[in-house]
Amino acid sequence: MVDYHTHTYLCGHASGTVEEYIESALKKGIREIGFSDHAPMPDDIRADITMSASEVEPYIGEIKHNRDIYSGRIAVKLGFEVDFPLMGSFDERYFTDPRIDYLIGSCHFIDGWAFDHPDHVGGYSDRNIDDIYTRYYAILEALASSGLFNMVGHFDIVKKFGYRSTRNFLPAVEKIARIMAAHDLAAEINTAGLLHKAREIYPSEDIIRIFFNCNVPITLGSDAHRPEQTGYMFQDAIEILSRAGYRKLSGFSGRKRYDIPL
Ligand SMILES: [Zn+2]
Ligand SMILES: [Zn+2]
Repeated sequence: MVDYHTHTYLCGHASGTVEEYIESALKKGIREIGFSDHAPMPDDIRADITMSASEVEPYIGEIKHNRDIYSGRIAVKLGFEVDFPLMGSFDERYFTDPRIDYLIGSCHFIDGWAFDHPDHVGGYSDRNIDDIYTRYYAILEALASSGLFNMVGHFDIVKKFGYRSTRNFLPAVEKIARIMAAHDLAAEINTAGLLHKAREIYPSEDIIRIFFNCNVPITLGSDAHRPEQTGYMFQDAIEILSRAGYRKLSGFSGRKRYDIPL
């Protein structure tokens, strides 16, 4: 079992040190733990959302240090969760930095609106719900086509607060799935949706079936913001993945994907 989506105290809205997450993962029998703290966004909007640009190197150093300490017990991977569209504050050299194992591309903003932030949930009432989904999936299509990332984070997080589209967006999803397969870009199966009003994992089971049919590789992430959340509800996620036909997960080293038995 792997968990490729975790956050630490550095982002300002999660708690726990790197060691605490690793110890929690060890207790749960996780074999590979990936750290994917939020890559820096511009200083005027990053407060309590991401680390600052000057914290990137200390973060990298801390993960590498713990990788050495825990070597032989658990694989510790270095990643970042990067906002797309890119906001320019994560230095572009990090997109080709061989020290980094993987990059998650995630969409948290639709045209400047932080749609997955509890403080801005009112935005769903101010807009047409199908327009929101249309914009969201257009951004994901650009993200998948960019060639910058190893996986797409929480694929259908636009459902987080329970606002569901009235139109069927599965054709748009399938178009993105084909782009992902062509780029060997993995989908993250993220269990944090179970903690919110959506009450299901990201993405939904019908989207997971489309991924399987289109040969999209997958991996697992808890999106833990506290150490005890590592591996949250992974048995349920694995059951859904097996039902869809999946027999393999993905791991990442030095920006290269490899297969792991499910
Ligand atoms: Zn976060
Ligand atoms: Zn995210």
